[in-house]
Amino acid sequence: MKILVFLEGQENHLKRASKEAITAALSLAPAENVTGILLHGTSEQAQAAGAFGLANVLVAQGDMLKDYSVTAATSVIEQAVQQTGADLVLFSATAHGKELAPRVAVRLQAGFAPDCMAIELDGNQLVATRPVYAGKASQKIKITTPKQVASLRPNIFTAKKAASAANVNVQEFTPNITAADVKTKVTNVAVNEGKLDVSEADIIVSGGRGLKAPENYHLVESLAKALGGAVGASRAVVDAGWRPHTEQVGQTGKTVSPKLYVACGISGAVQHLAGMSSSKIIVAINKDKEAPIFKLADYGLVGDVLEILPKLTSKINEVHGKPNHN
Ligand code: FAD
Repeated sequence: MKILVFLEGQENHLKRASKEAITAALSLAPAENVTGILLHGTSEQAQAAGAFGLANVLVAQGDMLKDYSVTAATSVIEQAVQQTGADLVLFSATAHGKELAPRVAVRLQAGFAPDCMAIELDGNQLVATRPVYAGKASQKIKITTPKQVASLRPNIFTAKKAASAANVNVQEFTPNITAADVKTKVTNVAVNEGKLDVSEADIIVSGGRGLKAPENYHLVESLAKALGGAVGASRAVVDAGWRPHTEQVGQTGKTVSPKLYVACGISGAVQHLAGMSSSKIIVAINKDKEAPIFKLADYGLVGDVLEILPKLTSKINEVHGKPNHN
């Protein structure tokens, strides 16, 4: 079994989800059969892949790839599969991976397993465990086609550093991409400076409709700051326009698995739980002691979130010897 892993870089680093995908790939095949592919990547990103045991990385280059285009990226990966002879292409089920993986599967006439939580091989065929009914149940599926594509749910597979970093063979890859491959392209990216991304954070404080109004959200931000964590949100507050979609946790938002997840005024609808139920420790603050979130929470605080949050934040700041800005 030969595997191609789609790698996502961030400045000179690899995204955590890509490191997880490398570890997952290496659990299925020996290092010589696993190749990573970076679009317009840097040598630092390729070396970072080596630290997680990857021995071969293709770095796709070309004028047509300067601005990210999902259709061009699909063609790049298709050509990388031809070059490497990969049987299986692994993506992370990140925003990028979610839009690329099904496109690549169609091009390769491959069976596709999205959002996998566990993977194994049955001979040369991938067997994947994936959530269904918004995480209420899981199913095992086996891909039966010769070419296979899967995406891995972020924060489920634990990325393992290699005992000794692999000597990475970095190859420049110049695919044949024409203007016809570039159906749309990204022309501008506005980065939220200094904001921790929920899918990369170890600590997340999320708010829901229980906060009553967007002007109360600073209470969630203050607790997140005191804990050194990221700010998340339920879909109800994203739909209401209080928070950006990048912060949404859940079935139609991001999947997170932090060490600590604090749910403030969030009921715990199944679609929200689908994105955070694998968090290591869950703390819930809700005035309704019957709220479904308490069934999952390790620690529950029953009361008014608008009263509890300032007290909690100031206590944490006090413990850390930090000033209070509630
Ligand atoms: P509510 O359900 O209104 O809960 C508010 C909670 O706050 C209640 O439990 C209440 O007791 C508590 N509360 C009220 N006042 C206070 C107070 N003063 N102090 C303390 N507690 C208080 N949702 C997501 O979050 N993420 C998703 O990705 C997502 N995807 C979806 C996909 C589909 C296809 C569908 C149909 C729905 C999806 N939803 C998602 C929506 C989901 O079903 C819920 O509607 C949503 O999660 C509710 O958000 P909430 O908990 O903030 O609001």
